Amino acid sequence: MAARKLDGVACAARLREDVAPRITAFQQRHGRPPGLAVVLAGQNPASEVYVRNKIKTVGAAGCRAELFRLDQSASVDEALALVRKLNADPAVDAILVQSPLPEGMGRDAEQRIFDAVEPAKDVDGFHPQNVGLLVQKRPALVACTPMGCIELLERESIPIRGKTAVVIGRSDIVGKPMALLLLHRDATVTICHSRTVGLPEVARTADILVAAIGRPGFVTRDYVKPGATVIDVGINTLTDQADVERIFPEGSRKRIQFSEKGSVLVGDVHPDVEAVAGAMTPVPGGVGPITVAMVLRNTVTAAELRAARKAGV
Ligand code: NAP
Repeated sequence: MAARKLDGVACAARLREDVAPRITAFQQRHGRPPGLAVVLAGQNPASEVYVRNKIKTVGAAGCRAELFRLDQSASVDEALALVRKLNADPAVDAILVQSPLPEGMGRDAEQRIFDAVEPAKDVDGFHPQNVGLLVQKRPALVACTPMGCIELLERESIPIRGKTAVVIGRSDIVGKPMALLLLHRDATVTICHSRTVGLPEVARTADILVAAIGRPGFVTRDYVKPGATVIDVGINTLTDQADVERIFPEGSRKRIQFSEKGSVLVGDVHPDVEAVAGAMTPVPGGVGPITVAMVLRNTVTAAELRAARKAGV
């Protein structure tokens, strides 16, 4: 039987509805909307799409969403100067620095720039202070993608407490916070990575399997316990015909899409998993739209917390 589709588009719409009254209330109380500033350095095509979606969604919800561009050749110091200016701007409640930064900025650029964002405005929850609070299960701005996965599981009434969860991927922005959020909801959590021995067997212990790897169709059906819930965080663009043929059967919708557009999106989970899993997120239309809705919610949360702090509440 085919897995139940966990619809990220519908979940994102509900998240936006839930946050709408908070935006109206903030506007009425403070005479201005919550404000998000997005910093985009360079011209990475995928980042352009992500940033456009975030600005559009946050703006359409009634917040102020502004894009600040830096050249491909911008230095770390220029980026830091922009972040400091946004930190000091009282109308900016939330700052998002889109990753990846141009390679020319150097290896430690991302860390230096993320660290410079005022923790109270850290909409992505990447600042070490917010990460530390998350580790201690204290209130914090939490990374949008993993928090969005939790929202989806909870709204779809998929039990977490007492379940076995396996997260493949240990990045700071997805894998690690995902594992912590599952742990804080009383799952028994295993984190896997490129050095994990016997990955399919470990993955097969999971009631909830999260794939955040960045490898198209990597998780095949032998990684999945029958009936498990599979959350596919990966977003990979295939432009090579052989890759498309390896993953998608002849005559499939994705093959047709590829022949028309020359590219196709695929997650980290192979489509065959649908026959084994109990529930599964699609790509596109799964974790991606929820992540964008979480940027909106974190913007509003950051605005409310800053206003409360200013008022001494
Ligand atoms: P990342 O920083 O590159 O981390 C990838 C992780 O996967 C690493 O921990 C790596 O292990 C692990 N890995 C790589 N190859 C592996 C293998 N053969 N076996 C087991 N583990 C392996 O990536 P990320 O930023 O976490 O993103 C992961 C994916 O999610 C990407 O496709 C990205 O585009 C997508 N993403 C989607 C959203 C969304 O909104 N839907 C948001 C963020 C990211 P090591 O640590 O050992 O190298």
